[in-house]
Amino acid sequence: MSSMMGLKDRIDEIDKELLHLVYKRWELVREADQNISPNMGYTSMDSWTRFVNDFSDTDRAKAIKHFMTECGNFKWESNNGVETQQRTMLYSREYQPENTVVKVNGISIGDGSFSFIMGPCAVESEEQVYQVADKLKKKGVRFLRGGAYKPRTSPYDFQGLGLEGLKILAKVARRKGMSVVTEIMCEEQLSAALPFVDVIQVGSRNMHNFPFLKALGRTDKPILLKRGLSATIEEFKLAAEYILLEGNANVILCERGIRTFETATRNTLDISAVPILLQETHLPVIVDVTHSTGRKDLLAAAAKASIAIGAVGVMAEVHPNPSAALSDAKQQMNFNELDLFMKDIHDYMYSKV
Ligand code: PEP
Ligand code: MN
Repeated sequence: MSSMMGLKDRIDEIDKELLHLVYKRWELVREADQNISPNMGYTSMDSWTRFVNDFSDTDRAKAIKHFMTECGNFKWESNNGVETQQRTMLYSREYQPENTVVKVNGISIGDGSFSFIMGPCAVESEEQVYQVADKLKKKGVRFLRGGAYKPRTSPYDFQGLGLEGLKILAKVARRKGMSVVTEIMCEEQLSAALPFVDVIQVGSRNMHNFPFLKALGRTDKPILLKRGLSATIEEFKLAAEYILLEGNANVILCERGIRTFETATRNTLDISAVPILLQETHLPVIVDVTHSTGRKDLLAAAAKASIAIGAVGVMAEVHPNPSAALSDAKQQMNFNELDLFMKDIHDYMYSKV
């Protein structure tokens, strides 16, 4: 009789052979110029389904189904006796029923606590970032945001301080014991930026940049993925899938308002996207109240709505002197406004039973 260790060794041997075959298959797929991953793609689904249904030997069919399930990306459905494969999305609750908790320097996002991600729209100087960080730290904020690479609508507007800005942000954040959340705009910026970033933000304008999402999926940094300006919830989830599929499980989704016909707010905060995303994915969902409303008078109301509807955090912009800001001057809170905002949120959270 085989010992348990002997059985395990033989399974390992078979897995190695399988991996070798899967890799060889992938090489052929690449040669055929189909840019799909080894366990993905209609060719694989079609042929496996045909294979299972053609098998009269149910034990072998079971073995194949078991193998495909172990691959993690498929589930089987029986339709009038015919087995079909459904791809199980990595973001879905079917794939992972429990919530993803993203850990950043020992602080968890999505564990039941509520996170504030705050800071200036753009890094302008060390003094400016320091003043904001100092104020935020006193308010208990742990995540310092700030744009060093700014995706501006006009190429004539302030484009950010780039790597120098990132260094400032990281220096101040380390001094204050905060974590850096900042936007990186393309793969070329990644390697230089990585040492200075704790959470990489994907900006709204970049949600559809699939090669970049794939590159982020190959890093081990948490990713804060913003919903595209005109992206549907389905497209938003699939953008997250690009990152997850490359192996990075630490994705935070950020609802930041979508483009509609409405002009009363900068964008339309799609608040119902929050519970939909929480139902349909296991990823933490936060709301950017600044870019969604674009109105300081609505920030606290939008934040309270976000809390009520299940968001695990909010993002908002703060500047020591908003009217002199180099970007988004109208929508950033000054320190007095921040005090009122935090008091309002605090009262709301603690008056809730
Ligand atoms: C930002 O958060 O700095 C920003 C540019 O936001 P968005 O990508 O949502 O427009
Ligand atoms: Mn901004």
